[in-house]
Amino acid sequence: MEQKHSAQGQVRFVRAQNRQAMYREFDATELYCPKCRKAVPVRKRLLLVLPEGDKYEYLCAFCSQSVGTKIDRGVKPMSVII
Ligand SMILES: [Zn+2]
Repeated sequence: MEQKHSAQGQVRFVRAQNRQAMYREFDATELYCPKCRKAVPVRKRLLLVLPEGDKYEYLCAFCSQSVGTKIDRGVKPMSVII
């Protein structure tokens, strides 16, 4: 199910680096998992790429239950070349 494209991964890596350089974004490291019934470390997964931003899903590191989603805004693709 998981698609891995090295080129895409590289782009995402660069964008993450840029974002970190600009400001420290809050990245949820622990969220409440209804299945585990406690705050758990989470894994971030890119769900959708929307015009308004990238939508990420947070999954419980233990049971892979979805514990939340988030849209990363403000990362405008610099694709306009004049
Ligand atoms: Zn869990």
